[in-house]
Amino acid sequence: MTRRIRQTAGYAGAVAGCFLLALAAAWTTFGVQIDNDAYDFFFRLQAAPGGRCRSIILAVDERTLIEMGGLRRLREIVASGLDALAAARPSVVVIDLILADEADPDQDARLEAALARMPNLVLAADLIPGGWEDPLPRFRRHAAAVGHVHADPDPYDNVTRRIPLEKAAGPDRRWAIALEAFRLSRGGGEILESPEQIEVAGLTIPAARREARPLYLHYFRGAPDGSSPIPTISIAALRADPSLAERFHGRVVFVGVTAQSAADDRHMTPYSAGRPMPGVEIHATAFETLARGLILTPAKDSTVFLMCLAIAVFAGLIFAYRSGWPAYAAGGVLVSAAHLLPYVFFREAVIFPYAPPVSTAWLCVVGAATYQHFVVRRRLRESETARSRYQQAIHFVTHEMRSPLTAIQGSSELMGRYNLPEEKSKQLAQMINAESKRLARMIQTFLDVERLTEGEMQLRREPFLVSRVIDACLERVRPLAERKRIRVKLGDFDDATLTGDRELMEYAVYNLLNNAVKYSPADTEITVFTRAEDGVFRLSVQDQGIGMSEKELKNIFKKFYRTKKAEASGEAGTGIGLSIVEQIVTHHGGRMEVTSRPGAGSCFTIVLPGR
Ligand code: ADP
Repeated sequence: MTRRIRQTAGYAGAVAGCFLLALAAAWTTFGVQIDNDAYDFFFRLQAAPGGRCRSIILAVDERTLIEMGGLRRLREIVASGLDALAAARPSVVVIDLILADEADPDQDARLEAALARMPNLVLAADLIPGGWEDPLPRFRRHAAAVGHVHADPDPYDNVTRRIPLEKAAGPDRRWAIALEAFRLSRGGGEILESPEQIEVAGLTIPAARREARPLYLHYFRGAPDGSSPIPTISIAALRADPSLAERFHGRVVFVGVTAQSAADDRHMTPYSAGRPMPGVEIHATAFETLARGLILTPAKDSTVFLMCLAIAVFAGLIFAYRSGWPAYAAGGVLVSAAHLLPYVFFREAVIFPYAPPVSTAWLCVVGAATYQHFVVRRRLRESETARSRYQQAIHFVTHEMRSPLTAIQGSSELMGRYNLPEEKSKQLAQMINAESKRLARMIQTFLDVERLTEGEMQLRREPFLVSRVIDACLERVRPLAERKRIRVKLGDFDDATLTGDRELMEYAVYNLLNNAVKYSPADTEITVFTRAEDGVFRLSVQDQGIGMSEKELKNIFKKFYRTKKAEASGEAGTGIGLSIVEQIVTHHGGRMEVTSRPGAGSCFTIVLPGR
């Protein structure tokens, strides 16, 4: 159960990590650039909105400048343009020129006279470091409003996607020229403002004051030849064909310079494709955005966060409850949906950033899939290990238990078949008894060790004297050693009281001694010595036996491993004893150390924490 909880927590943590990483990635300049590119792309995907334009541009274009005397005569040129359309009675006239300084007196007089005849005149002001650059009073007198002409190019890619509706120098502020034009075109009422939005002529614009009240421009697709989507008539053309003036009737006229060589306020737009848009067209676009009520609203940060969170949770659930192709297919659907989501919002006039949902979907789906892939593989490996351990256990049991069983079987058969003298029967009965006890002990030890490995058994923790353990082991091993004329002696000896499972420890020490006897030739010596030092207790069994190479040393603690020399020695063995010894020592918080040289002997040391 706890394991299950740990696994679930690990998985949830991994998916949450991917989610946070995705949000962080979306936050970078790279992420913002992707948002911008997607936003521009959405514009280009859209069909042009139908309906008649409410605005028209009276342009000072290249031809006008060439035919009418160049920029030096700009005010005169504009005056003649205005004169030409005055009779058509436009509804509002917006002059996108800064008229803050005096020019040639004749030209200024002409322009003033022309402006005076304009209904609903809006003039331009520019905010420069020293404050507002307003039109000269002689022009200002005739204006119904003065608006600012600033755009707000994106700091990353310089594309103008929005304009500030409000611009302030201290308490002195101007509304955008397009907003003033809109207000006047709708009867010239008040602009009602609150911190989060403004309301003008029944249109509510969600534009917060703290962000300088941004208006996201709704650009329109132009003609394939690159000409403006907003009707444009040049002053030169109007002069050549006065009947064109008709087209200005009742419209909001934006007057400005569009000539590439002269207009210094040109802006990149989502439709630009390398051809910047003159400022006057930007203002006309802003006006159209307002006039058609095509207000785009950025999605709230909290909405974006919750949407991304939902995507991450979905990704997590998919791979938690499904696996294989169904999961990958569902993951693919989720990723596709995340790609479409911002466009769906865009169609609903909500600007939803592109990078956060997309990066969340990709990272979380890939993260969840990878995590589950490895978990499944690990589970498979674990179950395989468990199976092979079980097989090994069976192998061990059959091998180790054969000899006592054979002895019991043989003895009992003898007793049953022949009428043996009492002395002999007693001897055989004793043997049966001893062998069955050995068998029982062996089974117990084996089960204990298996359970220790599984982590199911609590180790007994009792204090015991090391000398007692060693004495018991020496006593058991001496008869075997004597048979091979091997001398077993006690070397330097520090006694100590250790805490742990005495029986298991005895099993370990006896195994080391038994191996030393098994793998030593006759007429050699085995020394047991101990040392207690710096809080570490060491118990060593040293022999003068066959020894092992470096390579062999690395493997002797693996189950069923036996060296070639050991196999060749003719000594019976299963290769499992040392693995059990190591497990016992590890469970006591210690470790094994072995030094050995082929042909010269080995030294096995149990290192335990202790006094
Ligand atoms: P077994 O003795 O049943 O083969 P062990 O797990 O006790 O299994 O030992 C594993 C192997 O380590 C032995 O087969 C032998 O090759 C090597 N080994 C263990 N003890 C010694 C020793 N004292 N000298 C040389 N080789 C040893």
